[in-house]
Amino acid sequence: MNRQKIFFVLFASILAWTAANGKTAAQEPEILICTQCAVENVTANKYCINCGDPLAEELSRWQSERQARERQLKRFISDRVDPPRLFTVPAARVLGSMDVRVMGGGAFGVATDRSFLGTVGIGLGDIAEVEFSTVGMVTNISRGSTVFPTSAFKLMLIPENRYHIPTLAIAFRNSANWQDVQSDRKVLEAQRDLVADGIRNIGYGTRFTTMHGVTTLRLWSLSIHLGLSLTDVRVRDLTVESDYYGVYEAPEEKQKNLVGGFFGFDIEQNPQTKLMFEIQTVSNFQYNVESREIDVSEAWLAIGGVRFFFNRWLSTDVGVWYQSTFKGIADLQIKLGLNLFLPGGSLGDKVWKMSNKSDIPNS
Ligand SMILES: [Zn+2]
Repeated sequence: MNRQKIFFVLFASILAWTAANGKTAAQEPEILICTQCAVENVTANKYCINCGDPLAEELSRWQSERQARERQLKRFISDRVDPPRLFTVPAARVLGSMDVRVMGGGAFGVATDRSFLGTVGIGLGDIAEVEFSTVGMVTNISRGSTVFPTSAFKLMLIPENRYHIPTLAIAFRNSANWQDVQSDRKVLEAQRDLVADGIRNIGYGTRFTTMHGVTTLRLWSLSIHLGLSLTDVRVRDLTVESDYYGVYEAPEEKQKNLVGGFFGFDIEQNPQTKLMFEIQTVSNFQYNVESREIDVSEAWLAIGGVRFFFNRWLSTDVGVWYQSTFKGIADLQIKLGLNLFLPGGSLGDKVWKMSNKSDIPNS
């Protein structure tokens, strides 16, 4: 796939650029260098191990340097733009007003197709967010997950506050239109019950709307995200071509409601890195040979990994993806995403601050 190559080239060049230019928040070694003899001492030493000179001055300089470093790290955390979601599940926060987020990524596995996922989101008035993205759905007739274009709207009901009241948001997501799903020949040939029925091709149209409520509870460096979702799935225009019974058509629309949910958490590991884990239910479309229908049920999908911030406006999400329809760990996929922010609103604030207070260091 060409898009994959483009993405990898983009990803590799950004990594290279960041490695060449980026300053990381690396920890300084905990040593004092004696001004008399230049020998390295541990910070617990009151006198130099080599010349016996008192190290009080060196210690106070080291402490003030450390405080400056800590202030810089705090500023890095408070200024960085953290996507208001984990890998795929939403958090109860929204993007800053007028901030635009562009996310590109994909899942990379050995056996399955590589579905490309992209997202564009914009924050509105610090309480709402609109998003256009592609999401994957699980089927047994095509490889990997089928990718749907969707649009979503998230509204924050209880904003982030200092009283430790959990943040609360509701969100709607629906597929832009009827989406055509066509079977993959190799996938069909790998399934015994479909081969036994002489099935050569399966196709159908589907669309869905999901409504969910999500709450985020912050406990120091740990954030817990919990959500409930109601999904209305429609399937129509089922066409099955079989060597044994010819073409079978079921044009009527079928509807199914699925109640699901998700749970996830993230932990601030250091100013540049967050550990993230999520588990959620997803719609699972399986063609049933007996009833000649598409059975829509729920499968679960889990992703665990890290979010690494290259700088305040660029971060990457890397995780390992597993879902209940996988047969074993050989089906594990690596999920890779790149989050880029175009700070519309917050950039304006910064420019204003910089022009009014010239003493803000631009580190
Ligand atoms: Zn010394």
